[in-house]
Amino acid sequence: MKDPHLTSFSDFGLSETLTRALVDANYTTPTPIQSQAIPELMKGRDLLGIAQTGTGKTAAFALPILQRLAPGKPAAPRRVRALILSPTRELATQIAESFKTYSRYMNHMTIAVVFGGVGHRPQEDRLKRGVDILVATPGRLIDHMLAGMVTLHETEIFVLDEADQMLDMGFVQPVRKIVKELPKLRQTLFFSATMPKEIAGLAGELLFNPITVKVTPEATTAERVEQRVIHVETAAKRRLLLDVIVAEKPERALIFTRTKHGADRVVRQLGQDGVEASAIHGNKSQAQREKALASFKAGSTPILVATDIAARGIDVSGVSHVINYDLPNIPESYVHRIGRTARAGKSGIAISFCGDDERDYLKDIEKVTRQKIPAEDRRGTIALSPRSDRDAGGDDEDRAERGDRRNPRGNQQRHHRPSGAQGAKDGHHHPGKRPESRPAAAGGKPAAKPQTARPQHRDNGAQEETLGRVGFLAGGREKPTRPQAAARPQGDSRRPQRNGGNGQRRQEV
Ligand code: AMP
Repeated sequence: MKDPHLTSFSDFGLSETLTRALVDANYTTPTPIQSQAIPELMKGRDLLGIAQTGTGKTAAFALPILQRLAPGKPAAPRRVRALILSPTRELATQIAESFKTYSRYMNHMTIAVVFGGVGHRPQEDRLKRGVDILVATPGRLIDHMLAGMVTLHETEIFVLDEADQMLDMGFVQPVRKIVKELPKLRQTLFFSATMPKEIAGLAGELLFNPITVKVTPEATTAERVEQRVIHVETAAKRRLLLDVIVAEKPERALIFTRTKHGADRVVRQLGQDGVEASAIHGNKSQAQREKALASFKAGSTPILVATDIAARGIDVSGVSHVINYDLPNIPESYVHRIGRTARAGKSGIAISFCGDDERDYLKDIEKVTRQKIPAEDRRGTIALSPRSDRDAGGDDEDRAERGDRRNPRGNQQRHHRPSGAQGAKDGHHHPGKRPESRPAAAGGKPAAKPQTARPQHRDNGAQEETLGRVGFLAGGREKPTRPQAAARPQGDSRRPQRNGGNGQRRQEV
Protein backbone atom coordinates (compact mmCIF):
# COMPACT_ATOMS: atom_id res chain seq x y z
CA MET A 1 0.00 0.00 0.00
CA LYS A 2 1.23 3.43 -0.84
CA ASP A 3 2.17 5.53 2.16
CA PRO A 4 -0.50 8.21 2.34
CA HIS A 5 1.95 10.57 4.01
CA LEU A 6 4.68 12.61 2.50
CA THR A 7 8.04 10.97 2.56
CA SER A 8 10.44 13.74 1.76
CA PHE A 9 11.02 17.20 3.21
CA SER A 10 10.95 18.66 -0.28
CA ASP A 11 7.25 17.66 -0.53
CA PHE A 12 6.31 20.14 2.16
CA GLY A 13 7.02 23.29 0.21
CA LEU A 14 9.31 24.62 2.90
CA SER A 15 11.47 27.61 2.05
CA GLU A 16 14.91 27.09 0.59
CA THR A 17 16.53 28.43 3.76
CA LEU A 18 14.77 25.84 5.87
CA THR A 19 15.50 22.93 3.55
CA ARG A 20 19.15 23.91 3.45
CA ALA A 21 19.30 23.83 7.25
CA LEU A 22 17.67 20.40 7.25
CA VAL A 23 20.27 19.13 4.82
CA ASP A 24 22.96 20.43 7.19
CA ALA A 25 21.28 18.65 10.10
CA ASN A 26 21.16 15.45 8.03
CA TYR A 27 17.40 15.18 8.17
CA THR A 28 16.56 13.27 5.04
CA THR A 29 13.24 11.64 5.81
CA PRO A 30 10.45 13.19 7.86
CA THR A 31 9.38 11.24 10.93
CA PRO A 32 5.72 10.15 11.04
CA ILE A 33 4.65 13.09 13.16
CA GLN A 34 6.45 15.45 10.80
CA SER A 35 4.89 14.03 7.67
CA GLN A 36 1.42 14.12 9.20
CA ALA A 37 1.59 17.45 11.01
CA ILE A 38 3.70 19.78 8.86
CA PRO A 39 1.34 20.07 5.85
CA GLU A 40 -1.66 20.74 8.10
CA LEU A 41 0.21 23.22 10.25
CA MET A 42 1.33 25.07 7.16
CA LYS A 43 -2.34 25.52 6.30
CA GLY A 44 -2.83 27.16 9.69
CA ARG A 45 -4.69 24.28 11.38
CA ASP A 46 -4.61 23.70 15.12
CA LEU A 47 -2.97 20.46 16.18
CA LEU A 48 -3.34 17.92 18.92
CA GLY A 49 -0.13 15.90 18.91
CA ILE A 50 -0.04 12.79 21.04
CA ALA A 51 3.66 12.24 20.97
CA GLN A 52 6.66 12.42 23.16
CA THR A 53 10.28 13.38 22.94
CA GLY A 54 12.16 11.28 20.44
CA THR A 55 9.44 11.36 17.79
CA GLY A 56 10.71 14.46 16.03
CA LYS A 57 7.87 16.57 17.38
CA THR A 58 10.02 19.67 17.82
CA ALA A 59 10.77 19.93 14.11
CA ALA A 60 7.11 19.08 13.41
CA PHE A 61 6.10 22.36 15.00
CA ALA A 62 9.27 24.42 14.57
CA LEU A 63 9.48 24.16 10.78
CA PRO A 64 5.93 25.39 10.05
CA ILE A 65 6.33 28.15 12.64
CA LEU A 66 9.53 29.39 11.02
CA GLN A 67 7.97 29.13 7.58
CA ARG A 68 4.96 31.13 8.69
CA LEU A 69 6.88 33.84 10.54
CA ALA A 70 9.63 34.35 7.97
CA PRO A 71 7.84 36.76 5.64
CA GLY A 72 6.30 38.87 8.43
CA LYS A 73 7.63 41.86 10.30
CA PRO A 74 10.03 41.24 13.18
CA ALA A 75 8.54 41.36 16.66
CA ALA A 76 7.90 44.83 18.10
CA PRO A 77 9.46 45.66 21.49
CA ARG A 78 8.09 43.51 24.32
CA ARG A 79 6.08 41.47 21.83
CA VAL A 80 6.30 37.78 20.97
CA ARG A 81 5.14 36.32 17.66
CA ALA A 82 5.26 32.63 18.59
CA LEU A 83 5.23 31.30 22.13
CA ILE A 84 6.29 27.79 23.09
CA LEU A 85 5.62 26.72 26.67
CA SER A 86 7.72 23.92 28.07
CA PRO A 87 7.50 22.38 31.55
CA THR A 88 11.23 22.25 32.14
CA ARG A 89 14.18 24.46 31.47
CA GLU A 90 16.14 21.68 29.81
CA LEU A 91 13.40 21.01 27.31
CA ALA A 92 12.97 24.77 26.76
CA THR A 93 16.67 25.06 25.98
CA GLN A 94 16.54 22.12 23.59
CA ILE A 95 13.56 23.54 21.76
CA ALA A 96 15.28 26.92 21.38
CA GLU A 97 18.39 25.14 20.10
CA SER A 98 16.31 23.29 17.53
CA PHE A 99 14.77 26.56 16.34
CA LYS A 100 18.26 28.01 16.00
CA THR A 101 19.40 24.99 14.00
CA TYR A 102 16.50 25.17 11.58
CA SER A 103 16.59 28.97 11.20
CA ARG A 104 20.33 29.27 10.70
CA TYR A 105 19.97 30.63 7.16
CA MET A 106 17.11 32.96 8.00
CA ASN A 107 18.03 36.54 8.55
CA HIS A 108 16.72 38.33 11.60
CA MET A 109 14.67 35.53 13.15
CA THR A 110 15.00 36.17 16.86
CA ILE A 111 14.72 33.30 19.30
CA ALA A 112 14.90 33.57 23.07
CA VAL A 113 14.40 31.25 25.99
CA VAL A 114 13.31 32.18 29.52
CA PHE A 115 13.18 29.92 32.55
CA GLY A 116 13.57 30.10 36.29
CA GLY A 117 16.58 29.46 38.44
CA VAL A 118 18.68 32.14 36.77
CA GLY A 119 18.74 35.94 36.95
CA HIS A 120 15.82 37.98 35.60
CA ARG A 121 17.81 40.85 34.21
CA PRO A 122 19.34 39.39 31.03
CA GLN A 123 15.99 37.85 30.13
CA GLU A 124 14.25 41.19 30.71
CA ASP A 125 16.71 42.99 28.48
CA ARG A 126 16.10 40.43 25.78
CA LEU A 127 12.32 40.54 26.04
CA LYS A 128 12.22 44.34 25.93
CA ARG A 129 13.63 44.25 22.41
CA GLY A 130 10.87 41.92 21.19
CA VAL A 131 11.24 38.26 20.28
CA ASP A 132 9.94 36.38 17.25
CA ILE A 133 10.03 32.99 18.93
CA LEU A 134 9.97 32.74 22.69
CA VAL A 135 10.42 29.42 24.46
CA ALA A 136 9.48 29.69 28.13
CA THR A 137 8.62 27.80 31.25
CA PRO A 138 5.33 29.01 32.71
CA GLY A 139 6.35 30.47 36.08
CA ARG A 140 9.13 32.69 34.82
CA LEU A 141 7.07 33.87 31.87
CA ILE A 142 4.34 34.98 34.25
CA ASP A 143 6.97 36.88 36.30
CA HIS A 144 8.02 38.73 33.16
CA MET A 145 4.44 39.42 32.15
CA LEU A 146 3.61 40.81 35.59
CA ALA A 147 6.73 42.97 35.46
CA GLY A 148 5.53 44.39 32.13
CA MET A 149 8.53 43.05 30.25
CA VAL A 150 6.46 41.17 27.71
CA THR A 151 2.93 41.06 26.41
CA LEU A 152 1.32 38.28 24.42
CA HIS A 153 -1.37 40.38 22.76
CA GLU A 154 0.15 39.99 19.34
CA THR A 155 1.20 36.36 19.58
CA GLU A 156 0.10 34.49 16.48
CA ILE A 157 1.14 30.94 17.35
CA PHE A 158 1.02 29.16 20.68
CA VAL A 159 2.58 25.77 21.37
CA LEU A 160 1.99 23.90 24.61
CA ASP A 161 4.59 21.16 24.83
CA GLU A 162 4.45 18.14 27.15
CA ALA A 163 1.07 19.12 28.54
CA ASP A 164 0.83 16.00 30.70
CA GLN A 165 4.12 16.92 32.28
CA MET A 166 2.75 20.41 32.96
CA LEU A 167 -0.07 18.77 34.86
CA ASP A 168 2.33 16.50 36.67
CA MET A 169 4.35 19.46 37.83
CA GLY A 170 1.41 21.59 38.89
CA PHE A 171 1.58 24.07 36.02
CA VAL A 172 -1.93 23.85 34.65
CA GLN A 173 -3.15 27.00 36.44
CA PRO A 174 -0.14 29.08 35.33
CA VAL A 175 -0.72 27.80 31.79
CA ARG A 176 -4.36 28.89 31.90
CA LYS A 177 -3.27 32.29 33.17
CA ILE A 178 -0.91 32.69 30.23
CA VAL A 179 -3.50 31.50 27.72
CA LYS A 180 -5.89 34.23 28.94
CA GLU A 181 -3.41 36.80 27.69
CA LEU A 182 -3.21 35.34 24.20
CA PRO A 183 -5.36 36.62 21.36
CA LYS A 184 -8.39 34.47 20.59
CA LEU A 185 -7.41 34.38 16.97
CA ARG A 186 -4.26 32.33 16.91
CA GLN A 187 -2.89 28.97 15.86
CA THR A 188 -2.56 26.54 18.75
CA LEU A 189 -0.49 23.37 18.91
CA PHE A 190 -0.89 21.06 21.85
CA PHE A 191 1.48 18.16 22.56
CA SER A 192 1.18 15.50 25.20
CA ALA A 193 2.57 11.99 25.51
CA THR A 194 -0.53 10.80 27.35
CA MET A 195 -4.07 12.08 27.52
CA PRO A 196 -5.39 11.95 31.06
CA LYS A 197 -8.84 13.49 31.49
CA GLU A 198 -7.60 16.88 32.69
CA ILE A 199 -5.28 17.18 29.71
CA ALA A 200 -7.96 16.19 27.23
CA GLY A 201 -10.17 18.86 28.83
CA LEU A 202 -7.48 21.49 28.52
CA ALA A 203 -6.88 20.54 24.89
CA GLY A 204 -10.60 20.90 24.22
CA GLU A 205 -10.54 24.41 25.67
CA LEU A 206 -7.49 25.58 23.77
CA LEU A 207 -7.86 24.04 20.34
CA PHE A 208 -10.18 24.94 17.50
CA ASN A 209 -11.03 22.19 15.04
CA PRO A 210 -7.63 20.54 15.42
CA ILE A 211 -6.07 17.79 13.39
CA THR A 212 -5.04 14.96 15.72
CA VAL A 213 -1.76 13.18 15.16
CA LYS A 214 -0.84 10.26 17.35
CA VAL A 215 2.54 8.62 17.21
CA THR A 216 3.70 5.83 19.43
CA PRO A 217 7.42 5.40 19.19
CA GLU A 218 7.95 3.50 22.37
CA ALA A 219 6.29 0.32 21.26
CA THR A 220 8.70 0.05 18.39
CA THR A 221 11.56 1.22 20.57
CA ALA A 222 10.76 -1.28 23.27
CA GLU A 223 10.75 -4.09 20.76
CA ARG A 224 14.40 -3.49 20.18
CA VAL A 225 15.25 -3.49 23.87
CA GLU A 226 16.44 -6.71 25.42
CA GLN A 227 14.68 -6.73 28.76
CA ARG A 228 15.55 -8.68 31.85
CA VAL A 229 14.43 -8.72 35.46
CA ILE A 230 16.60 -9.86 38.31
CA HIS A 231 14.85 -10.78 41.53
CA VAL A 232 17.03 -9.79 44.41
CA GLU A 233 16.86 -8.76 48.05
CA THR A 234 16.71 -5.01 48.39
CA ALA A 235 19.85 -5.10 50.52
CA ALA A 236 21.72 -6.92 47.76
CA LYS A 237 20.97 -4.39 45.05
CA ARG A 238 24.14 -2.47 45.64
CA ARG A 239 26.32 -5.47 44.97
CA LEU A 240 24.16 -6.60 42.13
CA LEU A 241 24.58 -3.24 40.45
CA LEU A 242 28.32 -3.51 40.61
CA ASP A 243 28.09 -7.06 39.36
CA VAL A 244 25.97 -5.99 36.40
CA ILE A 245 28.26 -3.07 35.54
CA VAL A 246 31.31 -5.29 35.63
CA ALA A 247 29.63 -8.02 33.60
CA GLU A 248 27.95 -5.80 31.02
CA LYS A 249 30.63 -3.14 30.66
CA PRO A 250 28.06 -0.64 29.44
CA GLU A 251 29.08 1.92 26.88
CA ARG A 252 26.63 4.31 28.51
CA ALA A 253 24.25 3.33 31.27
CA LEU A 254 21.32 5.23 32.64
CA ILE A 255 20.41 3.98 36.10
CA PHE A 256 16.98 4.80 37.49
CA THR A 257 15.98 5.20 41.08
CA ARG A 258 12.57 6.16 42.40
CA THR A 259 13.84 8.98 44.59
CA LYS A 260 16.37 11.77 44.45
CA HIS A 261 18.04 10.59 47.62
CA GLY A 262 18.17 7.13 46.16
CA ALA A 263 19.97 8.52 43.12
CA ASP A 264 22.52 10.32 45.26
CA ARG A 265 23.04 7.21 47.33
CA VAL A 266 23.68 5.03 44.30
CA VAL A 267 26.23 7.54 43.00
CA ARG A 268 27.93 7.67 46.38
CA GLN A 269 28.03 3.90 46.73
CA LEU A 270 29.27 3.37 43.21
CA GLY A 271 32.01 5.87 43.98
CA GLN A 272 32.94 3.89 47.08
CA ASP A 273 33.00 0.78 44.94
CA GLY A 274 35.30 2.38 42.43
CA VAL A 275 32.86 3.26 39.68
CA GLU A 276 32.48 6.87 38.73
CA ALA A 277 28.93 8.07 38.16
CA SER A 278 26.92 11.24 38.42
CA ALA A 279 23.33 12.00 39.29
CA ILE A 280 20.71 14.12 37.67
CA HIS A 281 17.57 15.08 39.55
CA GLY A 282 15.53 18.03 40.65
CA ASN A 283 17.60 18.84 43.74
CA LYS A 284 20.68 19.46 41.63
CA SER A 285 21.45 22.96 40.47
CA GLN A 286 21.10 23.80 36.83
CA ALA A 287 24.88 23.91 36.48
CA GLN A 288 25.30 20.50 38.13
CA ARG A 289 22.69 18.93 35.88
CA GLU A 290 24.19 20.41 32.76
CA LYS A 291 27.62 19.21 33.78
CA ALA A 292 26.40 15.69 34.55
CA LEU A 293 24.56 15.47 31.27
CA ALA A 294 27.45 16.90 29.28
CA SER A 295 29.94 14.39 30.67
CA PHE A 296 27.44 11.59 30.10
CA LYS A 297 26.96 12.69 26.51
CA ALA A 298 30.68 13.05 26.00
CA GLY A 299 31.21 9.62 27.51
CA SER A 300 33.59 10.83 30.20
CA THR A 301 31.17 9.73 32.94
CA PRO A 302 29.29 6.96 31.17
CA ILE A 303 27.08 6.15 34.15
CA LEU A 304 24.27 8.54 34.95
CA VAL A 305 21.82 7.96 37.78
CA ALA A 306 18.47 9.66 37.34
CA THR A 307 14.97 9.93 38.66
CA ASP A 308 12.03 9.57 36.28
CA ILE A 309 11.23 13.23 35.92
CA ALA A 310 14.87 14.18 35.52
CA ALA A 311 15.36 11.67 32.75
CA ARG A 312 12.36 12.72 30.78
CA GLY A 313 13.47 14.19 27.54
CA ILE A 314 17.04 12.93 27.80
CA ASP A 315 17.87 11.98 24.27
CA VAL A 316 21.42 10.82 24.11
CA SER A 317 22.30 8.44 21.38
CA GLY A 318 24.36 5.51 22.48
CA VAL A 319 22.68 4.69 25.81
CA SER A 320 23.52 1.01 25.75
CA HIS A 321 21.93 0.06 29.06
CA VAL A 322 19.05 1.17 31.20
CA ILE A 323 19.25 -0.25 34.69
CA ASN A 324 16.20 0.03 36.89
CA TYR A 325 17.75 -0.01 40.32
CA ASP A 326 14.25 0.53 41.64
CA LEU A 327 11.21 -0.44 39.64
CA PRO A 328 8.91 2.48 38.94
CA ASN A 329 5.57 2.42 40.71
CA ILE A 330 3.88 3.85 37.63
CA PRO A 331 4.06 1.22 34.88
CA GLU A 332 4.28 3.75 32.05
CA SER A 333 7.46 5.09 33.59
CA TYR A 334 9.02 1.72 32.83
CA VAL A 335 8.24 2.16 29.15
CA HIS A 336 9.60 5.70 29.29
CA ARG A 337 12.75 4.52 31.02
CA ILE A 338 13.62 1.71 28.67
CA GLY A 339 12.85 4.03 25.77
CA ARG A 340 16.02 5.95 26.70
CA THR A 341 17.99 3.14 25.17
CA ALA A 342 17.48 1.73 21.69
CA ARG A 343 17.31 5.20 20.22
CA ALA A 344 18.12 6.04 16.65
CA GLY A 345 17.63 2.53 15.39
CA LYS A 346 20.03 0.99 17.87
CA SER A 347 19.35 -1.88 20.19
CA GLY A 348 19.72 -1.66 23.92
CA ILE A 349 19.52 -3.61 27.13
CA ALA A 350 17.20 -2.90 30.05
CA ILE A 351 17.90 -4.68 33.32
CA SER A 352 15.49 -4.26 36.20
CA PHE A 353 16.16 -5.13 39.82
CA CYS A 354 13.04 -6.35 41.56
CA GLY A 355 13.05 -6.44 45.34
CA ASP A 356 10.47 -8.47 47.22
CA ASP A 357 8.47 -5.34 47.89
CA GLU A 358 8.43 -4.46 44.20
CA ARG A 359 6.69 -7.57 42.87
CA ASP A 360 3.41 -5.76 42.42
CA TYR A 361 5.09 -3.07 40.38
CA LEU A 362 6.53 -5.76 38.14
CA LYS A 363 3.11 -7.35 37.68
CA ASP A 364 1.66 -3.97 36.73
CA ILE A 365 4.48 -3.35 34.26
CA GLU A 366 4.00 -6.71 32.63
CA LYS A 367 0.28 -6.06 32.40
CA VAL A 368 0.74 -2.69 30.74
CA THR A 369 3.46 -3.85 28.37
CA ARG A 370 1.57 -7.08 27.73
CA GLN A 371 4.67 -9.16 27.99
CA LYS A 372 6.45 -11.32 30.47
CA ILE A 373 9.92 -10.01 31.08
CA PRO A 374 12.51 -12.81 31.26
CA ALA A 375 13.50 -13.12 34.89
CA GLU A 376 16.45 -14.44 36.83
CA ASP A 377 16.31 -15.19 40.54
CA ARG A 378 19.41 -14.07 42.36
CA ARG A 379 17.89 -14.10 45.83
CA GLY A 380 20.13 -15.70 48.35
CA THR A 381 23.12 -15.60 46.04
CA ILE A 382 24.46 -12.14 46.71
CA ALA A 383 25.88 -10.89 49.98
CA LEU A 384 23.73 -8.24 51.58
CA SER A 385 24.94 -4.71 52.24
CA PRO A 386 25.57 -3.74 55.82
CA ARG A 387 22.47 -2.28 57.43
CA SER A 388 24.08 1.16 57.62
CA ASP A 389 24.21 1.62 53.87
CA ARG A 390 21.13 -0.15 52.69
CA ASP A 391 19.25 1.47 49.99
CA ALA A 392 16.22 1.37 47.77
CA GLY A 393 14.33 4.02 49.55
CA GLY A 394 14.33 2.68 53.03
CA ASP A 395 15.36 5.78 54.88
CA ASP A 396 13.35 8.65 56.24
CA GLU A 397 14.52 11.09 53.61
CA ASP A 398 13.24 8.82 50.90
CA ARG A 399 9.94 8.33 52.63
CA ALA A 400 9.51 12.06 53.05
CA GLU A 401 10.51 12.61 49.43
CA ARG A 402 8.10 10.05 48.08
CA GLY A 403 5.30 11.29 50.25
CA ASP A 404 5.78 14.67 48.67
CA ARG A 405 5.54 13.46 45.11
CA ARG A 406 2.38 13.10 43.20
CA ASN A 407 1.41 11.09 40.26
CA PRO A 408 0.33 12.66 37.00
CA ARG A 409 -3.22 12.90 38.21
CA GLY A 410 -2.19 14.97 41.19
CA ASN A 411 -2.70 12.22 43.73
CA GLN A 412 -0.33 10.68 46.16
CA GLN A 413 1.69 8.05 44.42
CA ARG A 414 0.93 4.56 45.42
CA HIS A 415 3.89 2.64 46.59
CA HIS A 416 2.35 -0.65 47.36
CA ARG A 417 -0.37 -0.72 44.86
CA PRO A 418 -1.79 -4.15 44.46
CA SER A 419 -1.65 -5.50 40.99
CA GLY A 420 -4.60 -4.48 38.95
CA ALA A 421 -4.92 -1.42 41.16
CA GLN A 422 -7.80 0.55 42.35
CA GLY A 423 -7.54 2.96 39.45
CA ALA A 424 -10.95 2.33 37.99
CA LYS A 425 -12.59 2.69 41.33
CA ASP A 426 -10.99 5.94 42.30
CA GLY A 427 -11.17 7.32 38.81
CA HIS A 428 -7.43 7.79 38.62
CA HIS A 429 -4.53 6.32 36.82
CA HIS A 430 -5.51 3.06 35.18
CA PRO A 431 -3.23 2.61 32.28
CA GLY A 432 -4.31 -0.82 31.27
CA LYS A 433 -7.79 0.46 30.53
CA ARG A 434 -7.15 3.85 29.05
CA PRO A 435 -7.24 3.79 25.30
CA GLU A 436 -5.10 6.92 25.26
CA SER A 437 -2.23 5.41 27.16
CA ARG A 438 0.77 4.48 25.15
CA PRO A 439 0.46 1.02 23.72
CA ALA A 440 2.32 -1.83 25.12
CA ALA A 441 5.84 -2.64 24.34
CA ALA A 442 5.87 -5.94 22.65
CA GLY A 443 8.28 -8.68 22.13
CA GLY A 444 11.32 -8.16 24.22
CA LYS A 445 13.30 -9.62 21.39
CA PRO A 446 16.89 -10.18 22.36
CA ALA A 447 19.08 -7.67 20.66
CA ALA A 448 22.67 -7.77 19.69
CA LYS A 449 24.87 -6.61 22.47
CA PRO A 450 26.34 -3.21 21.77
CA GLN A 451 30.07 -2.77 21.75
CA THR A 452 30.91 -1.77 25.25
CA ALA A 453 33.77 -0.08 26.93
CA ARG A 454 34.91 -1.06 30.36
CA PRO A 455 33.35 0.78 33.25
CA GLN A 456 35.64 3.33 34.71
CA HIS A 457 37.09 2.39 37.99
CA ARG A 458 38.99 4.85 39.93
CA ASP A 459 41.69 4.20 42.34
CA ASN A 460 40.10 5.18 45.55
CA GLY A 461 42.48 3.60 47.91
CA ALA A 462 42.14 6.65 50.09
CA GLN A 463 38.44 6.16 50.27
CA GLU A 464 36.61 4.02 52.69
CA GLU A 465 35.97 0.57 51.41
CA THR A 466 32.57 -0.70 52.33
CA LEU A 467 31.86 -3.61 50.09
CA GLY A 468 35.14 -5.43 49.96
CA ARG A 469 35.13 -4.84 46.26
CA VAL A 470 38.27 -6.72 45.47
CA GLY A 471 36.81 -9.85 46.94
CA PHE A 472 33.64 -9.25 45.02
CA LEU A 473 35.40 -8.61 41.79
CA ALA A 474 37.78 -11.49 42.16
CA GLY A 475 37.01 -14.91 40.79
CA GLY A 476 37.61 -14.45 37.12
CA ARG A 477 36.21 -10.94 37.06
CA GLU A 478 38.18 -7.91 36.37
CA LYS A 479 39.84 -6.06 39.18
CA PRO A 480 39.19 -2.36 39.46
CA THR A 481 42.09 -0.50 38.06
CA ARG A 482 43.10 3.08 37.54
CA PRO A 483 40.80 5.25 35.47
CA GLN A 484 40.65 4.21 31.90
CA ALA A 485 40.18 6.28 28.84
CA ALA A 486 36.63 7.44 28.79
CA ALA A 487 34.21 5.48 26.70
CA ARG A 488 33.82 7.50 23.57
CA PRO A 489 30.34 8.31 22.46
CA GLN A 490 29.40 6.10 19.60
CA GLY A 491 26.13 7.77 18.88
CA ASP A 492 24.94 8.76 15.53
CA SER A 493 26.74 12.03 15.09
CA ARG A 494 24.20 13.15 12.54
CA ARG A 495 21.59 13.48 15.16
CA PRO A 496 22.06 16.62 17.20
CA GLN A 497 22.27 15.64 20.81
CA ARG A 498 19.79 16.88 23.22
CA ASN A 499 19.72 17.65 26.84
CA GLY A 500 17.48 16.08 29.37
CA GLY A 501 14.13 17.36 30.31
CA ASN A 502 14.18 17.65 33.99
CA GLY A 503 11.74 18.98 36.35
CA GLN A 504 11.14 19.47 39.91
CA ARG A 505 7.89 21.03 40.83
CA ARG A 506 7.15 24.68 40.82
CA GLN A 507 10.52 25.93 42.02
CA GLU A 508 12.26 24.85 38.86
CA VAL A 509 10.62 27.53 36.85
P1 AMP B 1 12.27 15.43 19.30
O1 AMP B 1 11.22 14.38 19.33
O2 AMP B 1 11.80 16.68 18.68
O3 AMP B 1 12.78 15.61 20.68
O4 AMP B 1 13.48 14.92 18.37
C1 AMP B 1 14.27 13.80 18.68
C2 AMP B 1 15.59 13.79 17.95
O5 AMP B 1 15.42 13.43 16.59
C3 AMP B 1 16.32 15.11 17.93
O6 AMP B 1 17.67 14.85 18.20
C4 AMP B 1 16.13 15.64 16.54
O7 AMP B 1 17.19 16.47 16.14
C5 AMP B 1 16.08 14.36 15.74
N1 AMP B 1 15.25 14.45 14.53
C6 AMP B 1 14.03 15.01 14.44
N2 AMP B 1 13.53 14.87 13.20
C7 AMP B 1 14.45 14.19 12.48
C8 AMP B 1 14.52 13.73 11.12
N3 AMP B 1 13.51 13.92 10.29
N4 AMP B 1 15.63 13.09 10.74
C9 AMP B 1 16.65 12.89 11.60
N5 AMP B 1 16.65 13.27 12.90
C10 AMP B 1 15.56 13.92 13.34
